[in-house]
Amino acid sequence: HEAQKATERYVFYHPKMGQQLIERLVLEQDLHYALDNGEIYLEYQPQINLRTGSIDSVEALVRWQHPEKGLISPAAFIPIAEETGLIVPIGEWILETACRQVKQWHNEGISHIGVAVNLSTGQFFQQNLVGMVEDILARTDLPPHYLELEITESMTVDTNHMADILHDLKQLGVKIAVDDFGTGYSSMYYLKKFPIDCLKIDRSFVRNVQSDHHDDVLISMMISMAKHLELKVVAEGVEEIGQLSFLADCDIIQGYLFSRPIDPEELSANFDTIQKKALSITQLKEVV
Ligand code: C2E
Ligand code: MG
Ligand code: MG
Ligand code: MG
Repeated sequence: HEAQKATERYVFYHPKMGQQLIERLVLEQDLHYALDNGEIYLEYQPQINLRTGSIDSVEALVRWQHPEKGLISPAAFIPIAEETGLIVPIGEWILETACRQVKQWHNEGISHIGVAVNLSTGQFFQQNLVGMVEDILARTDLPPHYLELEITESMTVDTNHMADILHDLKQLGVKIAVDDFGTGYSSMYYLKKFPIDCLKIDRSFVRNVQSDHHDDVLISMMISMAKHLELKVVAEGVEEIGQLSFLADCDIIQGYLFSRPIDPEELSANFDTIQKKALSITQLKEVV
């Protein structure tokens, strides 16, 4: 009833807005049950070591298979999870599921693989993020150095508070990456203020690196800066072989060129194939 009242007010004000608001309220309602209904799941995208050609790690990416609306992207529902506070249980589920999956891969003989998990703003406001991560690592029996947590520059968290939490997380032995690097207002400040291990160059720079000299220069600068700061550099969104010659000094490459994000069973089944493809691509003359 509350919801209906709210929409009626907007319909009167602007018909289109009303429709959007209804859609949004429906999603919000449904998201409350999505986790319990088993509609939330993770896909994993390989991260390739450019030097060795091996799949060093995977990034966990969340998906919502809505019973009527079909697949909903995280870009659409993570903000709703944030606003409703559902990010806390969903975030915990994501972290535990990813750690458990990687531990299972270790047990199946893919023994070296690590996992990167995206954090969002609301998780820095939750009661005990550090304790939760510690508990999950203990429950899943995953050695902490296999877990990398990704933060972004668009997070609206007080930087002192964030620095405290990140230092505590580092104490656990997990790694910290800055995702979408270069797209926010505070890229440099993040590197100065936080205990960062890894920098992920945003896809928007990688996309046109072959055609836009500016992107080429900016990427070179980011890589060089990362090297001086002794950070690992990941390039995300790599789709074409031609892009690799501009990324030759990166440590890790992630993108459709090697594999889309896929579900864990598919990754298990195709691991050797993807690994072989990665080896042959990274050994090309244009790349090394
Ligand atoms: P992100 O963390 O920067 O993730 C990379 C996004 O780029 C993913 O989109 C991935 O599917 C996509 N991608 C990877 N390689 C390529 C490529 O070669 N070409 C193109 N065009 N795209 C590529 P996705 O899965 O839709 O996720 C979008 C964003 O949603 C993520 O950006 C992240 O910010 C957020 N997200 C995803 N999963 C989670 C999660 O588990 N927790 C939280 N808090 N946020 C998540
Ligand atoms: Mg990410
Ligand atoms: Mg990213
Ligand atoms: Mg991104």
